Amino acid sequence: MKLNLNIQPLNTWINKTGIEPLVIAGPCSAETEDQLVATAHLLAKTGKISALRAGIWKPRTRPGEFEGIGSIGLEWLKRAKAETGLPTAVEVATAKHVEEALKAGVDILWVGARSTVNPFTVQEIADALRGVDVPVMVKNPVNPDLSLWVGALERINNAGITKLAAIHRGFSSYEKSAFRNEPMWDLAIGLKTLAPHLPIINDPSHITGNRDLIGYISQKALDLDMQGLMIESHIDPSVAWTDAKQQVTPAALADIITNLHLRKPEVRNTEVNDKLAELRNQIDKIDDLVIQKMAERMQIVEKIGNYKKDNDITILQVSRWDEILHKRTSYAKALKLSTEFTEKLLELMHSESIRKQTEIMNKSEAGQAAEKLTHA
Ligand code: PEP
Ligand code: MN
Repeated sequence: MKLNLNIQPLNTWINKTGIEPLVIAGPCSAETEDQLVATAHLLAKTGKISALRAGIWKPRTRPGEFEGIGSIGLEWLKRAKAETGLPTAVEVATAKHVEEALKAGVDILWVGARSTVNPFTVQEIADALRGVDVPVMVKNPVNPDLSLWVGALERINNAGITKLAAIHRGFSSYEKSAFRNEPMWDLAIGLKTLAPHLPIINDPSHITGNRDLIGYISQKALDLDMQGLMIESHIDPSVAWTDAKQQVTPAALADIITNLHLRKPEVRNTEVNDKLAELRNQIDKIDDLVIQKMAERMQIVEKIGNYKKDNDITILQVSRWDEILHKRTSYAKALKLSTEFTEKLLELMHSESIRKQTEIMNKSEAGQAAEKLTHA
């Protein structure tokens, strides 16, 4: 299934000069006129930035924290744009934000992660955008739910916004990790598969929550063929009012960008393409074999399920599962497969086996007899 989005290419509204990679940068929050304008000048001077971002209205978890400087910041953005020539981008979360941002001549709007989770909010923003020709970027929702992300993009697109992009900023997770928000790349790849023409911009600042990891995530995003990066940059991150740990100075940002390696999704060189095709052919054959073997395994699982049912044995025998896990992971390790991968694969196979056997256990005698008849 493909999404039916009506989208204009990225270079019709940003990156018209073709600077690669496409980078949108600026402070998490506009704090003071000096901070914003001075940061914008330093960013513009790097020559590596395509647009200036700044949070004007900040969605904060608890009341009483800095909730953004508000409308006055839009005036500072106007000045920053007039002096540097950088187009500007802000987050909008209500119809009023949209109205004020447009009135102030903001060039690009984005919907934040806390808004994307709420279809009422997204619809309110979409309604406010009807009849307006402004580019909009939609961040993924806080929770790992691809359809919420898709739904928000559809609502904005249905309002007539065709200059559209998604922003991948990672997802909330209970699992402790090095990241503030788990990238869960599969979800971004899922979106790309559903809407191959929709540009996806990665936000390594909110994924990592840590300036030291921004380069690493940026490179990974580019290697996954994402179309650009949105990175928070502050003239002096140590005193930033919000997200201090993840912001970088404009100079540090320039270094990060310089060190990125740009690879191409496709090449014209026939020799390279022939070699790739040959290797992919080998992969296809192996994948077919893996699927065939999986199906054979499941047939045996079914036999075991029937046997357990006939002999009144429980589906799960923990000792057997332990034995499988232990034997297979040490074998896989010897074959240079990571334990994490092997465990995930085995758990997936095991849970499918349990599902199959549960189905068999719960099937009534009559149901089984009927099935035998239809197969006879
Ligand atoms: C932001 O970009 O400043 C922001 C609040 O991000 P998110 O919506 O991804 O949390
Ligand atoms: Mn931020």
